[in-house]
Amino acid sequence: MRFETRAIHAGQEPDPVTGAVTVPVYQTSTFQQDGIGKPRGYEYARTGNPTRTALETALASLEGGRYGLAFASGLAATAAVVNLLQKGDHVVAGSDIYGGTYRLFEQVFAKWGLEVSYADVDDPAAFAAAVRPATRLIWVETPTNPLLKIVDVRRLAAVARRSGALLAVDNTFASPYFQRPLELGADLAVHSTTKYLAGHSDLIGGAVVCGRKGVYERLKFHQNAEGAVPGPWDCWLVLRGVKTLPVRMREHEANALAVARALRGHRRVSRVYYPGLADHPGHRLARRQMGGFGGMVSLDLRGGRKAVERFFSRLRIFCLAESLGGVESLVCYPSVMTHGSLPEAERLRRGIGDSLVRLSVGLESREDLLEDLRQALG
Ligand SMILES: *Cc1c(COP(=O)(O)O)cnc(C)c1O
Repeated sequence: MRFETRAIHAGQEPDPVTGAVTVPVYQTSTFQQDGIGKPRGYEYARTGNPTRTALETALASLEGGRYGLAFASGLAATAAVVNLLQKGDHVVAGSDIYGGTYRLFEQVFAKWGLEVSYADVDDPAAFAAAVRPATRLIWVETPTNPLLKIVDVRRLAAVARRSGALLAVDNTFASPYFQRPLELGADLAVHSTTKYLAGHSDLIGGAVVCGRKGVYERLKFHQNAEGAVPGPWDCWLVLRGVKTLPVRMREHEANALAVARALRGHRRVSRVYYPGLADHPGHRLARRQMGGFGGMVSLDLRGGRKAVERFFSRLRIFCLAESLGGVESLVCYPSVMTHGSLPEAERLRRGIGDSLVRLSVGLESREDLLEDLRQALG
């Protein structure tokens, strides 16, 4: 079955007991057992819940993996992946990653003896050069946040294989509709389902999808042992979102492309970052490894923070808020918001300056979005 069909049906067969066409919300903490040591498939809802199973099955199918695991947040999913490692293991991470992932590496796992090196995502040879004998994990995002750089997943998969490391790709920005890292050779696809998968800015969630049973079993152990699991309502909402993922992503992309083109010609804008523009440095690679370019657009405004503040105060449709991937258009200021947890020098070194603005282009009327941006730029 094709992607659109699996988005609606994978893991979501009608309920065997009642025939309910939509997967029920199993709002229960525990399940009756037929005798000592004789559960009917579920025991305790931290370990497993049928609504969660439906979501995990659906996400595994969409990512082209065999196993899916849902978590209480994207960062909980990330933590479960890092927990595959042992004390003294080394990680090579892309230089342009979500600020919270950086914080997790540096302020949570570092104290347990985890070492992380950051490889410049602009330099294709940097990852292989950063690998050490103790390297067990390569971690990247593509497109990256917030500069929308494209990282070559096939190439990194070869580096990971040679080094005996796992390759994890944070696929939040593209969504499985536009990019499937496992098909490109990655071992793990990680998501903040908070974003495009749920798609309506109404929950926090995360997921990991993988293809190997051994890796799955270790992740499953951590999911249960740490307990950062999503409740059944949140699983249900992600499932509801996933059904329309293909139509939403196509429309996000069409709107984003129109926004990127309009901004590029504007005198108040010094630079536009969107992989769908032919002059974006990652455009050709994006064409090879992605099915589309997504709904995120970043830009540098002329005039620094003052100009950004004026722009934000005039916007009427784009809402100033963290997060992305919902039906409504959002605008954010990475240097203070999503990347505020990075030390200033580190942030500037990564090109996240005071004039950078990130847009999550929503599904409102394209004309309204363009008018809003034009009037706010003034
Ligand atoms: C939001 C986000 C995360 C973190 O996910 P939460 O659901 O907020 O914990 C991780 N990676 C990327 C790319 C994100 O955008």
